[in-house]
Amino acid sequence: MRIDLHTHSNVSDGTEDPDVLIRSAVAAGLDVVALTDHDSTAGWERARTAADELGLGFVPGMEVSCRTDTGISVHVLSYLHDPAHAGLAEEIAKSRSARLTRARRMVELMSGDFPITWELVQQHVTEGATVGRPHIADALIALGVVETRTEAFERILTARSPYWVSHYAPHPAAAVALIREAGGVPVFAHPSAFNRGAVVGGAVINEMIDAGLLGLEVEHRDNPEEARVELRRIARDHGLLVTGSSDYHGSGKPNLLGENVTSEETLEAIMSLATGTAAR
Ligand code: AMP
Ligand code: FE
Ligand code: FE
Ligand code: ZN
Repeated sequence: MRIDLHTHSNVSDGTEDPDVLIRSAVAAGLDVVALTDHDSTAGWERARTAADELGLGFVPGMEVSCRTDTGISVHVLSYLHDPAHAGLAEEIAKSRSARLTRARRMVELMSGDFPITWELVQQHVTEGATVGRPHIADALIALGVVETRTEAFERILTARSPYWVSHYAPHPAAAVALIREAGGVPVFAHPSAFNRGAVVGGAVINEMIDAGLLGLEVEHRDNPEEARVELRRIARDHGLLVTGSSDYHGSGKPNLLGENVTSEETLEAIMSLATGTAAR
């Protein structure tokens, strides 16, 4: 069984429609795929319908944007939560709205140095999608300022750039607690992704564990090998699940479907721990 539990469609910053992503997962030889768009579950139905048609296992998920008190960005994956749970739904709605205001502000700051406009950025955002820096990157590509999203992130969109603006996001421990309340299974996404900026230490991970964290995404291209050893030790000491996934974003990132995978036993554990919504 080839199981990939972290992918994005154009419901957030991936480039494929949810049903196209399901077709790509079949073409990549996967047996099970999870759709984990940033702060949104709007793609679940379309992905589920396509997966049912094609006989692919589908796990509904989401990647919740979080921020610590010291401003470190943390992503928490949620699997199989109830999308109608009011507490969690309100929190991600707040993040989505803050992301929109923040993106507009970043574009405003950038417009002094580049011929970028909010109207142009919007052309790269699918109706209703969770807006992020990748959409600003797409506008920069269309303008010929950069060639790829990666180049845009390295040169212009990092948290150290003069155009950087932060946005509201819940504390990771609060997000973990909400995901549990909603019947979901919270997994800390790419915990050691130093290439994206500062990462949290043991204190925050312990707070997340105390709040009900159930897994660590150890096998992810952004976790350096040395860090994975420590993550596996933490998982062993605290009885946490260990997952591996691609973080596929369509053509928006080099990550390939199935480049990291999760074991069948771990998927079974996730499904038996979840009480929010059914996997198919
Ligand atoms: P934001 O959500 O606006 O903070 O932007 C972060 C998102 O940008 C992440 O979810 C990644 O998918 C994407 N991202 C981060 N770094 C890169 C990169 N180097 N190349 C392409 N996409 C990236
Ligand atoms: Fe993303
Ligand atoms: Fe992430
Ligand atoms: Zn992701």
